Amino acid sequence: MKTYDLDRAIRKVPGFPKPGILFYDITSVLMNPDAFSFCVDAMVERYRSMEIDAIAAIESRGFLFATPAAVRLKLPVILVRKAGKLPGATYRKTYELEYGSDTVEIHRDDLGPGQRILIVDDLIATGGTIAATADLIRAAGSVAVEAFSVIGLPFLRYEEALSPLAVHTLITYDSE
Ligand code: AMP
Repeated sequence: MKTYDLDRAIRKVPGFPKPGILFYDITSVLMNPDAFSFCVDAMVERYRSMEIDAIAAIESRGFLFATPAAVRLKLPVILVRKAGKLPGATYRKTYELEYGSDTVEIHRDDLGPGQRILIVDDLIATGGTIAATADLIRAAGSVAVEAFSVIGLPFLRYEEALSPLAVHTLITYDSE
């Protein structure tokens, strides 16, 4: 597969959404068809040889990367949504944020025993969102195979938070 300078395609916005945070903005990737294709091609290349039954896509920017990859891989897409958005019976998990908490939900009908699930988001920071998603998958008796994210911030120690779940990223940033 061709290499691509993804770093140049990612806009960095200091002080968003609050002072002290460097925001990695993937709208600039979406606006750049070469960069976006590189991301989706990399996903297809990696996951076409792995045994996966469905992709769990995390609201909302995870949807954007999971969906084109799922179409190419001919896999179902499971939406991982914030509380109160899914109409059917759900598995739900509340997890702690730096300030407050958040809740993710998955339709119960979307997960079955032994199903092998790939989790996709745009960026992994603390890993809290993906950890909660993996918990829901396991609660259903399914298997979380790997977490994929375009961007990883390993200095926030997501590897430890998610271990033993494997994590694959296309680019990492070592510090803010
Ligand atoms: P976490 O649960 O801490 O891994 O946070 C991951 C979620 O928060 C992802 O859905 C990201 O889109 C978003 N996020 C956290 N930190 C940043 C950041 N510095 N830049 C962009 N998005 C972020």
